[in-house]
Amino acid sequence: MNRDFLSIVAEISNAGKILVVGHIMPDGDDISSVLSLSIGLSRLGKDVVAGIDWRIPWYFYDFEETGIVRSYEEIENSGFSPDLVICVDASSPDRVGRFQNFFNGRTVCVIDHHGTNTLFGTHNWVDTKFGSTAQMVFRLNQALEVPYDERLATINLMGIATDTGFFRYSNADELAFSDAAKLVSMGAKAYLVSRIFENKRIEQFNLLSTMIQHLRMEMNGQLVYSYLSKEDYEKNNCNEDDSGGFVGELRSIRGVELAIFFSEYTDGEVHVSFRSKDWFDCSKLAVLLGGGGHPRAAGCTLKGDLFAIIDEVLKEARALMSIQISAGSVG
Ligand code: 5GP
Ligand code: MN
Ligand code: MN
Repeated sequence: MNRDFLSIVAEISNAGKILVVGHIMPDGDDISSVLSLSIGLSRLGKDVVAGIDWRIPWYFYDFEETGIVRSYEEIENSGFSPDLVICVDASSPDRVGRFQNFFNGRTVCVIDHHGTNTLFGTHNWVDTKFGSTAQMVFRLNQALEVPYDERLATINLMGIATDTGFFRYSNADELAFSDAAKLVSMGAKAYLVSRIFENKRIEQFNLLSTMIQHLRMEMNGQLVYSYLSKEDYEKNNCNEDDSGGFVGELRSIRGVELAIFFSEYTDGEVHVSFRSKDWFDCSKLAVLLGGGGHPRAAGCTLKGDLFAIIDEVLKEARALMSIQISAGSVG
């Protein structure tokens, strides 16, 4: 058994008050991991508070358990003082946002599957063999003998399903399928998970059409990119959450190896998403730009003028792509 895993089990067993935090710009794996762990630990009689320092995209509210997640302000103002802080699916301290303020003088447990994790906790159970953090939470809950029912199993399955692109990406391996199968045998309903993404607003289709109008291809069609500016979101009566999945549409184009999607947030920050198909290492590019992620899915957040950022990122992407081509990474 992994030493950090055992230390985390021991820390949880000894703790009464636990803060479980996810990362900013939360995705399905993050929300699933925060919820599955907090619900699991509550069932063991722990005093658990779940926190994410970011708005949760509206389409996840189909899972009513999302309502237990508190904002940073709510937790700060409540005076809750945890014995233990557990960070899930976050590769570096900046990813938990202001919840870093709770680290001082406390034991911090990190549970994550990103190869770019900076090991910022007291105990770091970081393992890239897992396609999702939700699978790690599943193991932890099982080790702690958390009782599972249909709801918890479905919420836990949601993280595996979303991080593997509904079992379509290269991380959809035997482990992901067998963990999913176990959850299904415990009552998880896959159709309830897929319904989150079959609930689109018509405005999102108009937004997609704007993104397609901005699409550009380079490097003999191997590199595709597009963007949405603040104004594009406003014009379409949308916000940043409404473009979830757009970068996957770019990657789905025949012949594309690397897809890049630039999203300008209302606060002026630009979030950049990278997705690759077979050989390009997106995490290398993201780390170079101050972000992180996985070989086939990574991202970073930059401040400044949208078009200047597009130029800068493309310069790095072209260079790294050429290096990886000449190094023979092309598979
Ligand atoms: P997405 O493009 O969906 O936002 O993120 C893809 C992957 O990259 C996820 O695994 C996510 O955790 C990681 N990622 C995205 N943005 C950032 C970032 O700004 N910093 C770091 N460290 N990782 C990021
Ligand atoms: Mn995530
Ligand atoms: Mn994840």
